[in-house]
Amino acid sequence: MEVLFLEPIFKERIWGGQKLKKVFNYPIEDKPIGECWAISGHQNGSSKVLNGPYEGMKLDDLFSNFKTQLFNNDPSDKFPLLVKILDANDDLSIQVHPDDQYAMTHENDYGKTECWYVIDADEDAIIIDGHHAFTKQEFIEKVKQNDLSLWKTRQIKKDDFIYIPAKKVHAIGKGSLIYEVQQSSDTTYRIYDYDRKDDHGNKRDLHLDKALDVIDLPSQDVLVDVNVIHHASYDFYHYIKNEYFELTRVDVKQSFTLKTHKYQLCSVLEGHGYVNDHEIKKGDHFILTGQEKVEDILFKGNMRIMMTQRPYESYV
Ligand code: ZN
Repeated sequence: MEVLFLEPIFKERIWGGQKLKKVFNYPIEDKPIGECWAISGHQNGSSKVLNGPYEGMKLDDLFSNFKTQLFNNDPSDKFPLLVKILDANDDLSIQVHPDDQYAMTHENDYGKTECWYVIDADEDAIIIDGHHAFTKQEFIEKVKQNDLSLWKTRQIKKDDFIYIPAKKVHAIGKGSLIYEVQQSSDTTYRIYDYDRKDDHGNKRDLHLDKALDVIDLPSQDVLVDVNVIHHASYDFYHYIKNEYFELTRVDVKQSFTLKTHKYQLCSVLEGHGYVNDHEIKKGDHFILTGQEKVEDILFKGNMRIMMTQRPYESYV
C-alpha cells in the first residue's frame, strides 16, 4: 500500500472567501476562493501527486495507467470521485445536477450525486434542500417571479451530514464551510443566482431549460441514517453508501486500524498523527492505494479523518 499525498487546487468563485487560508492554512491568493479541489482526476483540475514513486504525476494519468495496480481495477473509465472543501462566504446559486444518463448525452461528463459534511457553520447558516412545486409549470412560474417560498430550506450546524442525489435542487447558504464528496463531474445547471453580477458587471449563465429536464418532481426528501461506533481509542461514523461512493469518518483518539484492500480517499479535517509511517496533519489529502489482499493500516494520533471508498469489491 502506498500513501499518495495530493496537492490541493484552488478555484476562485464569486461566493468564495478566505476561510481556506484561515482554517486550513492553505497558501491561497487574496481573492474570493470558494473551492479547494482536494482529490480530483477531473479534466478541469487534476491533483498532482506530491511524494513517492509517482511524484509529479496527475491523478487522471495515474488512474488510467495504473488502474489495476493502485485502484483495484476500478470499472470506471475516468477517476470517478471528486473531494472538495467549499468556503461559502456568500450564497451559492440554487442549482441541480443531472444523473449519469443525461450528463453523458448532453455534456460528455458524469452526472453528479454529492454529499456534504459541515465542517463549520455560522449560527444562521441554511441550505436549500429541495422545492415545493408539484408541476413544471408551477416551478417555472415561481422561479420567474423570484418567489423564494418555492425552496425548502433548513438550518445547518457543525457536524451535520446532507445527501444530495442527482436531480435534487439544492444550494449551500452563506456562512458555511463544507467537506464534499461527489461524482467526478463539473456539470451544474443554475436555476437562480440572486441577480448577482461579477467584477465585470456580468451575470452568470442560468440553465433553466436543462434544469427542468432533470429536476425531481415532486421533490423527494432523502433521509440518511448515520451509524456510529464508539470505541475507547476512536469513534467511527458511517454516513452513506450508494452506487458511487461510501463515506465514513474516523475520529482517532489514540489509534485506529483500518482493514482493507480497497483504495481510499482520505482528508484530515482536524488534528495530526500518523498513517503507518507517514506523518499527517489537518488539511492533508491523500490516497491509500488499493491492494489485492486485505492489509492492516494503522492510524495513530488525535485527528478527524474523512474516508471515501468505492462501494464494491473489485479485482475481477
Ligand atoms: Zn451542487
